[in-house]
Amino acid sequence: MSVLADRFGRVATDLRVSLTDRCNLRCTYCMPEEGLAWMPREQQLTDDEVGRLIRIAVEQLGVTGVRFTGGEPLIRRGLIGIIAAAAALQPRPKLSITTNGIGLDRLAGPLRDAGLDRVNVSLDTLSPARFLKLTHRDRHADVLKGLAGAARAGLTPVKINTVLMRGVNDDEAPELLRFALDHGYQLRFIEQMPLDAQHQWDRHEMVTAEAILASLEPYGLLPDSVSRGTAPAETWLVPGHVDAAGHPARVGVIGSVTRPFCGDCDRTRLTADGQVRNCLFATEESDLRGLLRSGRSDADIAKAWQTAMWGKRAGHGIDDPSFLQPARPMSAIGG
Ligand code: SAM
Repeated sequence: MSVLADRFGRVATDLRVSLTDRCNLRCTYCMPEEGLAWMPREQQLTDDEVGRLIRIAVEQLGVTGVRFTGGEPLIRRGLIGIIAAAAALQPRPKLSITTNGIGLDRLAGPLRDAGLDRVNVSLDTLSPARFLKLTHRDRHADVLKGLAGAARAGLTPVKINTVLMRGVNDDEAPELLRFALDHGYQLRFIEQMPLDAQHQWDRHEMVTAEAILASLEPYGLLPDSVSRGTAPAETWLVPGHVDAAGHPARVGVIGSVTRPFCGDCDRTRLTADGQVRNCLFATEESDLRGLLRSGRSDADIAKAWQTAMWGKRAGHGIDDPSFLQPARPMSAIGG
């Protein structure tokens, strides 16, 4: 089998598939409250096209894990069918989803039955009022219901993704960890990255991994002996706590900006309109939709995907003076 290798010896086995650029929330660090143009429908891959690209990735390019994201993947109509098709592939990839959790209380069971293995739910605050301010939508209770539904359906370990912002929710780290521990969820803090549609990210304003860990000091976190491997999160053990499976409880920090892990990156990304991105911060994309729609063979598409990955840069370059924020915001790339 061929693989998705790059010039620096990395091999991509983890595919992030964005299923839509649309979302039912408007998180300030991702999307503007109004005025972001959606991708025209005809540019979005059909369910069959998504299925074909995932099949090529798994059967011909060595991809072993597929994470569905967006925008908000739960609002994609064909989601269950797309997951079922991916689960039928051989070798069967690990299937997960990153979601804001709205509607997950209803969908968790059917998603599990279709073959979904795991879920990450984004939750930045325990306060409904702050949630409204941060997302411009009054849906906090729905997210909490979604988390509970995921756990009930066995989509475990249920992970929570949290982005902290100075003066907005950076005082909540200890409470959020308490909430996660009490419910058997695994919490991971993500440093805010320059991927907002408004281009307002400011390095000096972001809450760093160091600051996050300092605010968790009362928990007496201990270094985790389990190797991080290619996972983006550095994890710490939380003494005196176990997770839902009875294992020592952990908390993670994804220090994408201040503690980059590009050297271990094993990701390849597909946007909802069929463009391969070899990095979240890539400024160039490779068009697979055009190849799909012009009748090219699986082998041609696999070759184009490999070429796209070969050009992956050594690092995201956020600290480089020549760094350019990608034209697309996170919602259109797929987080
Ligand atoms: N709608 C889904 C959700 O809310 O999880 C999936 C898409 S969202 C873009 C995926 C993840 O990216 C979320 O956990 C979100 O918090 C995170 N995210 C979005 N913009 C970000 C940014 N500028 N920096 C860091 N994380 C960001």
